[in-house]
Amino acid sequence: MFLAVAAYQGLAEACDYPLHLGITEAGGFRSGTVKSSVGLGMLLWSGIGDTIRVSLSAEPVEEIRVGFDILKSLGLRHRGVNIISCPSCARQQFEVIRTVERLEQRVAHINTSMTVSVIGCVVNGPGEARETDIGFTGGGHGTHQVYIAGVPNHRLKDADIVDHLVELIEKKAAEIEAAKAKDAAAAKTAAE
Ligand code: SF4
Repeated sequence: MFLAVAAYQGLAEACDYPLHLGITEAGGFRSGTVKSSVGLGMLLWSGIGDTIRVSLSAEPVEEIRVGFDILKSLGLRHRGVNIISCPSCARQQFEVIRTVERLEQRVAHINTSMTVSVIGCVVNGPGEARETDIGFTGGGHGTHQVYIAGVPNHRLKDADIVDHLVELIEKKAAEIEAAKAKDAAAAKTAAE
């Protein structure tokens, strides 16, 4: 990985050609993702690279997902639901890890760019929710807080968490797409 990074850095200094970045033979899903993220992240963050590939000994679709996640993490591309979540601990007021796992699967089909925070308790939940389109924070007695656009909106009981968040996310995606279509139609009319 270091050799590849050094080679791309040398190429970027030596010529103006577009560079297609990739960490070859990075490894399996987890180790390969880490190596690709570190290597591509270093290069992209320093302004080197025009296109990327991710190579993993894993299902090919994972290479695409990891590639987009690298670009999303660097703020270079925005596509799909960016879920911000905490690692969970003894303070969690609902099963954070399982909830996020299920939620990621259920919203994988959404391409609309938006941020969603899923945080186990009030230590970090309200702060993260202020920065996201939809926020969810664990609360006491199985009653949690939902935020919309950073503002407390309503409370929710345990059983419904994933279904409810998916519903909110799909609704928000439809609103964003409708607003984009409206703006595009207005721009087209103005140009005529
Ligand atoms: S936000 Fe709360 S539940 Fe999540 S890791 Fe921090 S203290 Fe633990």
